[in-house]
This record gives sequence, C-alpha cells and structure tokens, in this order.
Amino acid sequence: METIRFSLVVPVFNEEEVLPITNQRLLDVMTSLGEAFEIIYINDGSRDRSGSIIRTFCKADSRIKLLEFSRNFGHQPAITAGMDHAAGQAIIIIDADLQDPPELIGPMIEKWRQGFDVVYGRRRAREGETWFKQKTATAYYRMLNRLTDVPIPVDVGDFRLIDVRVRDALLDMPEHNRYVRGLISWLGFSQTDVQFVRAPRLAGKTKYPLRKMVKLGIDGITSFSYKPLKLGIGLGIILSIFSFLFLIFVFVARLFDLVIMEPGYASLMCVILFFFGVTMIMLGIIGEYIGRIFEEVKGRPLYVISQRVGHFARKGRKTTGGD
Ligand code: UDP
Ligand code: MG
Repeated sequence: METIRFSLVVPVFNEEEVLPITNQRLLDVMTSLGEAFEIIYINDGSRDRSGSIIRTFCKADSRIKLLEFSRNFGHQPAITAGMDHAAGQAIIIIDADLQDPPELIGPMIEKWRQGFDVVYGRRRAREGETWFKQKTATAYYRMLNRLTDVPIPVDVGDFRLIDVRVRDALLDMPEHNRYVRGLISWLGFSQTDVQFVRAPRLAGKTKYPLRKMVKLGIDGITSFSYKPLKLGIGLGIILSIFSFLFLIFVFVARLFDLVIMEPGYASLMCVILFFFGVTMIMLGIIGEYIGRIFEEVKGRPLYVISQRVGHFARKGRKTTGGD
C-alpha cells in the first residue's frame, strides 16, 4: 500500500446537510494534489444521519475513514482523536461546515514543503457571523495573550496543517480540558500562516452555542495561565491596606470619642457585602482550577470510540477503546 502523505481530520456534529458537498470538495482538492491521502471523519455523537452518510462515503472510497464516538465529547476531543489516528506526514484539521475553504489546503501544503511545521489559517475577515461573536472573539484573543506567556496567534482557529512531528509531540500532552491551538503554540516549532476570509456556514446552525464557547474560552485561559489565581493576592493586599487604615480610624475615634458611633448599619452592610463579593469571586476562581485538577487526576480517556470504519494505518492512543 502506498504510504499516506496527507491526512485530513474533519470533526462532525450534526452536519447532514453539508456533508455530501464537503466530501466532494475535499476529494476534489486532495485529488488535484496528486499524492496519497486519507480523510478521517470523526462523528462526535451526531443525532442526525451524519454517521450513515459518512459510512456511504467510506464504502465508495477506501481513502475515507470514520471514527465513531460513543457520545458527544466535543470539538477539541474530536480533532484530537483524528490527529491521533492520522497516518500522513502532514495533518490538516478542517471544519465540516466549509467555513474553512478546502482550496486553502494547497497553499498550506506549499508552506509545509518550504519547511514550516505548523501552518494556520488566519481569518482576515469573518462573514456571516454575528457582531457579538466577532467582537467577543477579538476581545478574547487580546485578553488571552495578555494573560498567558505563550503567544497564541490572534484570529486563528483550529483550521491548520501540522507536521507529523508536531502531532507526535502532542501525544505527550494528555490534558483533558484541551485547547488544541494553545497546545500547538506552546510546542513551538516553525510556524507561519495563510490568510483567508471566513465564509458563512454553508448550511445548518453553529454547533458552538455560547455555553460551549465560554467553556472553550475558560479552558484557554486556565490551561495556560494561573494569573487569575494571583488576582487574590493583589486584591487582598489592597483591601487589607484600606481595612487597616479604617481600623485605626475606628479605634482612635472610639478611644477619644471623636465621633458618635451609634447607627453604623449602612456602613457595616456595605463593607460586609463588598468583602463577601470579592471572597466569593476568588473562591470561584480557585474552584475552577481545583475542578480542572480533579478532571486530570481521574485520568479518564479523552474520548471513547465505539466503532472504526475503514482501514486505519495508525491506531491512535492506547486508552481510547473501540474495536
Ligand atoms: N463540532 C464537533 N463537536 C461539537 C461541536 C462542533 O465535532 O460538539 C464540529 C462541527 O461539526 C464543525 C466544527 O466542529 O465541523 C466547528 O463547529 P461549528 O462550525 O459549529 O463552530 P463555529 O464555526 O460556529 O465556531
Ligand atoms: Mg463553523
């Protein structure tokens, strides 16, 4: 069998409307490159006909393969599973909804041939996304870079090409709350970008509701920075200084009967509410980190595969079940 040069990793969650078009576009682009390739779809617990549609692709073409998850594990575990099973020298992660243009794969591979290990697609503009999503995304990336020591490129999603060496290095990063693009930045290697305009989704709705976006956002910050924990020290010091000054004032005032201190309900209430608020926020932040430690300590697999369809030249992680 010919050795596989390129692996495409395509996470799928309820994408039945777009899959036939996506598959055709991906096949066209990959065939035109003239080298052996494979397309690995990961069915992330879809509740529509995505799974059976992909099975028909696999039957028609042995280069197309499917990893079926036992339930919905999420986008980041899905692309991790795909990368784990990819046999190619270069691995390309691309969304199923055609928001990432497959035609960019050619230029990405060109950069890879020039010697770059990571080539990410940088969004020059986003079409068809709400004002809210665009603004929050920009603000978020700015904040992330301020908080972390790892430079994480702005306006870059998971659409990228990585060399097989980068994937092998990723296998040594078993963390659960994965923020794959951050992990790749952390690894280093030689990186470059190709620019594109992010098209609107071809069909269907976004599978990233605000809840999942917020979780991914928190994952990004907490897995690369513990600065939020240090917030407690700063706040604590400032508040302690004010408290101490106020304490002296109260003490002296009481001692020499400078002011009459009868009512005091309002001021007491303000102080108590304020300090409890700050304390609870800090407890929440600490809880967030402890929860993540808990998650890691349990050491469960990142995803569970219920079925593999097609011949996989690489078997992925040992702990992933399936077969
Ligand atoms: N996706 C997935 N599991 C999920 C959510 C999304 O595999 O739990 C896939 C989805 O099918 C798509 C990609 O991840 O191929 C990106 O999702 P989406 O297009 O909904 O995100 P957006 O582009 O709106 O950020
Ligand atoms: Mg999308």
